[in-house]
Amino acid sequence: EVVLNGVGKVFPGDVHAVRDVHLRIGDGELFVLLGPSGCGKSTILRMIAGLEEATSGELWLNGGVANDLSPRERNVAMVFQDGALYPHRTVGGNMMFPLEVAGGDRAEARERVAELTRALGIGSMIDRLPGTLSGGQRQRAAIGRALIRQPSLFLMDEPLSSLDAGLRTELRLEITGLVRSTGTTTVYVTHDQVEAMTMADRIAVLRDGVLEDVGTPEQIYRDPATVFVAAFLSSPP
Ligand code: ATP
Ligand code: MG
Repeated sequence: EVVLNGVGKVFPGDVHAVRDVHLRIGDGELFVLLGPSGCGKSTILRMIAGLEEATSGELWLNGGVANDLSPRERNVAMVFQDGALYPHRTVGGNMMFPLEVAGGDRAEARERVAELTRALGIGSMIDRLPGTLSGGQRQRAAIGRALIRQPSLFLMDEPLSSLDAGLRTELRLEITGLVRSTGTTTVYVTHDQVEAMTMADRIAVLRDGVLEDVGTPEQIYRDPATVFVAAFLSSPP
């Protein structure tokens, strides 16, 4: 569970990136942060991950105040727009890396990597280097590396935005299937309305750092809280 209790972020220069956001993300939920460029999506995600400090409010993770916890202590995994794989490690080596750091049984680790690469449709690419993969395959490997240690929270920041439309649709469904089947609580950032509507259990719509609306895709589509939400949902991505 993730709770934002009046969370705000002011960057130097008096930039109010996030203003007094109240949100509760339940266990196992696939929650989407949606809004136009600059509305504060990444800043919220980075505060949840512990990569950015909130300047006001409380952030709760799994029942405790987490404002002062390090990223490591939060047990979160994050995937960015550009998966940022280790270039000199194979796909399997990349996915193995978090398990190596943690220590433990190597045979078991290899089995888990093989299983997850198959689930992600990159089973045959386990020995390839990232430089020899397509963008979609690289993002699959990055998602695999993030999920390999079964984080309590999975954060994705526009992971599909560098891919073409067909691949986006395909991976959207795969990510949804994967996080649902594992029951991992997931926060997914996008500016793409279709992506949000097709993937989310619930969506939060942001504008200039302000939370404009929260609800299921059906709720916010049928009964948008503000004119901005209605207009944003019906504008092309
Ligand atoms: P995009 O869709 O373009 O990725 P976003 O919704 O993720 O946008 P953020 O990156 O969260 O937006 O930025 C929100 C606001 O905070 C913007 O006005 C941005 O310029 C500002 N901002 C973000 N990071 C910093 C920083 N390190 N220093 C100063 N201002 C920042
Ligand atoms: Mg962003």
